[in-house]
Amino acid sequence: MKKRILITGGAGFIGSHLTERLLKEGHEVLCLDNFFTGSKDNILHLLDHKYLEIIRHDVIEPILLEVDEIYNLACPASPVHYQYNPVKTVKTNVMGMINMLGLAKRTKAKIFQASTSEVYGDPEQHPQQESYWGHVNPIGIRSCYDEGKRIAETLCMDYHRQHGLRVKIVRIFNTYGPRMAINDGRVVSNFIVQALQNKPITVYGEGQQTRSFCYVDDLVEGFIRLMDNTPDDYPGPVNIGNPGEFTILELAEKVIALTGSSSKIERLPLPPDDPTQRRPDITIAKEKLGWEPTIMLEAGLKKTIAYFDAQLKKQG
Ligand code: NAD
Ligand code: UDP
Repeated sequence: MKKRILITGGAGFIGSHLTERLLKEGHEVLCLDNFFTGSKDNILHLLDHKYLEIIRHDVIEPILLEVDEIYNLACPASPVHYQYNPVKTVKTNVMGMINMLGLAKRTKAKIFQASTSEVYGDPEQHPQQESYWGHVNPIGIRSCYDEGKRIAETLCMDYHRQHGLRVKIVRIFNTYGPRMAINDGRVVSNFIVQALQNKPITVYGEGQQTRSFCYVDDLVEGFIRLMDNTPDDYPGPVNIGNPGEFTILELAEKVIALTGSSSKIERLPLPPDDPTQRRPDITIAKEKLGWEPTIMLEAGLKKTIAYFDAQLKKQG
């Protein structure tokens, strides 16, 4: 059945892939974005699509639309960008979530929230299961994002319990792929761009901290399965991520090898509150969604390297 679907943050990295996928499935997509970290370039190839509508809007302001489903992705995801204006990050997470839940309530739409592994903070449980409450600093430089996303989950669950809203919460673990912004500041895009330019690879701290990297197509598949294939009274949360775990130093070495770069590793100070380890337990995703990642790190990196290579050549 054709649905009218609102994607907030639809011009961002993940949002643009989701927009493309939902249009391909025959839905009408309303792509809402304030273009803070997103870009029209990400959706340029879709602009002629009859069923795509672009809305320049900030989610901290209410909006009246008629929709069947909402995917709420609006929020800068890179530490560099969410720390640029931390008060705005809190407003986006809290007021944006309230506005989207209000819209879902009025239109009886099903609503999806893009939450994050950051709700686990610097985790003392490894790998992280959804039942873990987390280890989060409420007053640090990452708190605007971490606590913002935590209260957004609280709001989803309260609207679910209090108003019977159909909500779906995904906790996204580090995701990468084409259309990350070149200046995004996250580790995969930084390392690839640095390697392609034969510039120093900036490893923060000793590089022994770990992350688990999921390719964007796998992630989007998980989103759709949770939204379409689970009962209305199942809100999650569900971890979606690739359980393959790598140190940041291993990632740097892989990127250097795959690009054939002459870059050397440069060590920079570790930012405060940087989580030391992160890996999703995906038992629930496997059981409830029949989902697991299919694109492993090396294959995903190759596709991402090809994308950034083309972008850098375009820039000249
Ligand atoms: P992104 O920065 O590329 O996309 C975010 C989009 O939201 C951008 O297009 C931006 O312009 C838009 N936006 C920001 N504030 C807005 C506002 N106030 N009103 C309207 N639009 C606004 O990041 P992404 O990686 O695509 O992340 C998408 C979502 O997934 C975010 O909510 C992020 O927190 C979540 N997430 C991503 C990752 C990851 O590894 N990529 C991990 C965990 C969670
Ligand atoms: N990192 C790094 N060099 C960079 C960017 C990031 O060593 O140029 C490290 C960062 O300190 C963190 C990890 O890579 O330990 C992942 O950082 P990112 O900003 O991608 O996401 P996070 O998972 O920290 O939100």
